[in-house]
Amino acid sequence: MARSVGESTPISNVKGIGEARYAAFARLGIETAGDLLAFYPRAYEERGRIVRISDTVDGEICALEITVRDTSAVKQLRSGLNVFRSIVEDESRSMELVFFNMPFMAKTLAKGRKFRVYGRMRIGQYGREMTSPKLEPIVQGVDLPYYVPVYRLSPPLTQRVVSAAVRSVLYLADGLTEILDEETRREYGLITRAEAVRIMHDPKDEESLRQAKRTLAFTELAVFRVALASMRTNVERESANPIGLKNAGSKRFFESLPFELTNTQKRAVKDIFADMAKPHPMARLVQGDVGSGKTAVAASAIYLCVKNGFQACMMAPTEILAAQHKKTLDKFLAPFGIVTELLVSGMPAAEKRRVRQGLADGSIDVAVGTHALITDKTEFYNCALAVVDEQHRFGVKQRKLLLDKSERDGKRAHMLVMSATPIPRSLSLIIFGDLDVSILDELPPGRQRIETRVVTRFEACDVYSLIRDELALGGRAYIVCPLIESEEEEGSRRAAEGYFEELKNGEFKGIPMGLLHGKMKPTEKAAVMADFARGDTKILVSTTVIEVGVDVPEATVMVIENAESFGLSQLHQLRGRIGRGSRKSYCILVHGGDNPMSGERLAIMRDTSDGFKVAEADLERRGPGDFFGNRQSGEFSLACTTLADISLIPETEKLVKGALSDRDNEKYKPLFDAAKIFLERNSDGKTVN
Ligand code: ADP
Ligand code: MG
Repeated sequence: MARSVGESTPISNVKGIGEARYAAFARLGIETAGDLLAFYPRAYEERGRIVRISDTVDGEICALEITVRDTSAVKQLRSGLNVFRSIVEDESRSMELVFFNMPFMAKTLAKGRKFRVYGRMRIGQYGREMTSPKLEPIVQGVDLPYYVPVYRLSPPLTQRVVSAAVRSVLYLADGLTEILDEETRREYGLITRAEAVRIMHDPKDEESLRQAKRTLAFTELAVFRVALASMRTNVERESANPIGLKNAGSKRFFESLPFELTNTQKRAVKDIFADMAKPHPMARLVQGDVGSGKTAVAASAIYLCVKNGFQACMMAPTEILAAQHKKTLDKFLAPFGIVTELLVSGMPAAEKRRVRQGLADGSIDVAVGTHALITDKTEFYNCALAVVDEQHRFGVKQRKLLLDKSERDGKRAHMLVMSATPIPRSLSLIIFGDLDVSILDELPPGRQRIETRVVTRFEACDVYSLIRDELALGGRAYIVCPLIESEEEEGSRRAAEGYFEELKNGEFKGIPMGLLHGKMKPTEKAAVMADFARGDTKILVSTTVIEVGVDVPEATVMVIENAESFGLSQLHQLRGRIGRGSRKSYCILVHGGDNPMSGERLAIMRDTSDGFKVAEADLERRGPGDFFGNRQSGEFSLACTTLADISLIPETEKLVKGALSDRDNEKYKPLFDAAKIFLERNSDGKTVN
């Protein structure tokens, strides 16, 4: 039966999508046919670029056109494992295709048949082979696509299923509203949205794909910036409790700190105090490289807020970090009778209830927590300041939720956002467009430059002896791995669990070690972290859960396994975990891959300690999408911008300015409508009016 499908039709109505697939699509955020249409491929396989077998190199992913010359019988290797090999050739030479547990391939790969194959070439002792390549029969009169889209998947979805589903709704593209009028499109060299969407899923050539990406990214940026601009106007119309210096005794507070604030810290505090004194909510970002002392700045703001009779809250991206902030705030604030409590989801229910009760009745002054803070159950008595740490892990959406949470009698909380991710200027606009900025560009005195080395696995011995030397001097070491378990080990990437066992029973036998990763329970993680901070364990093997904000001044060594698989900004964050004390620290980047490009990237880390420079270099190489890591960063999901060239940001400037100054012009209506929808989607409909 033919069913008519519209943009808002649930995908359960799309042919071939049953319950299991529906659930998998939902996990990917796809519920309607329209969502599916906007589910752009994460990559494209360039299967049309055929190479000759003899021109391939080891490890290369490539497309070949082959003829089957001979096939072996399916061989049983052991119970549950069989292998099938086929000898294939092109005009240059022959090679083998290998399939494990795919006995049916023996039928497909009949002698004399021709295929386009796509996979990773291995050149071993016995010649060239490809394991489980993708096969497409070459049939006269049928054109194989040059590009094959690769979609993000969730089991049991396969590329084939997603492609088919997308194809079945592709005709809907023609019905999409054009957000930019024809004149604007012509001026900026853009194609229609309908065309762009079609091309994204079914590109014919490189040039049209480039144009499609550019069009979608440009449109999205324009919508995003118009949305930010209207959000900003909203904030300015809102009111907040003014927080003054009068009788707050802040001089005594600053004198009580264990150090004198640096000049840039003082300037940031001054900015913040001036903002908070106003009857409008502060929206300020404190941006400072790792270790620049953002926590003390936040503590100053919290102090002033509480001394004015209001509550404050501080939100961190991980429970580990929240626990650490709680300790630091206690150190700074408890002497003044300020009560700070932790609120994270890993706490026992009774404890959570007690804290929530205290926040509701006002007996607790400061709450430090993860996003559990903003869940529906938490009510504040009179929260007037919300601090959000390491903002790059939070989206505008979460910030909004937090603000709504702390709204009372029509008054919003002041908001202070802290970020250690040095955002290049070109990008800070789209990320922080709605915030004022204070920059901490000075490190506290007495810090030493971290020495960064790039080594290969073969130099592991040197690394081990460096760790041993540093431990003997009272230091501690982090060893960071890209994966948790070895089952998921891809290629030669190191897994934390396996490496931990290996080192504990071998190289570092007798030395107390800890293991930390994201699959552990929050309480376990906190305990492991506390052991390391106290020095009960000396070496911490972990995944990137330690990435953000963790402060253990005794740690002087950071070894990063498979450093090539991390982004530069992420490496910089990790490196920021050391060099926090007065002793010299070492960051060892272990290069486990054979991609020379990554070697070049790592050299940047070796040569630069300035986070902004690292970020610029990262951005240049990877583009804004990868720069922010995965899309779960919680930021507004800018699906298309991740595909875009950074130069689009200034390009949208003129259009956005023009639209904002000519709001009533009919031609901008679709743009403002789209901005409104965008905000509603990204903030649960609470911000638009
Ligand atoms: P980040 O900006 O990365 O969040 P932190 O707030 O964790 O940095 O501070 C890093 C370390 O520097 C902490 O141990 C903190 O006590 C210390 N620190 C902060 N400000 C100063 C200062 N003005 N002088 C000396 N040490 C400071
Ligand atoms: Mg911090």
